[in-house]
Amino acid sequence: MTDPGDYQRAWQQYRQQGRLWIALFILYVPAVVGSATISLRYLHTPKPAIGVALLWMAFTLYLGARINLWRCPRCGNTFSGTLWRSKGIFAGQCVHCGLPKYWSGEAPGS
Ligand SMILES: [Zn+2]
Repeated sequence: MTDPGDYQRAWQQYRQQGRLWIALFILYVPAVVGSATISLRYLHTPKPAIGVALLWMAFTLYLGARINLWRCPRCGNTFSGTLWRSKGIFAGQCVHCGLPKYWSGEAPGS
């Protein structure tokens, strides 16, 4: 990928996945507590809330793994490291080729 439009599309996907991961992380406790409150009140069992918690965790882990394994639009290697040793959404540049995060082919400051 060398076309700046390709970079922009790739960064847009990366940004969306990062924002979704942050939202899932922040909303985990309210979602689980809310679903537990509702299921206890109306169904008299916490089992649906346990299902919500497990699915929420599984999807958060899956999305985190996708972000950690996200491919750099310039070199094609994983942008932030490996699955187990990664800077995740906090990587400021590609750990392989040094491409700055969100760089789309324009000169700095333009
Ligand atoms: Zn790279």
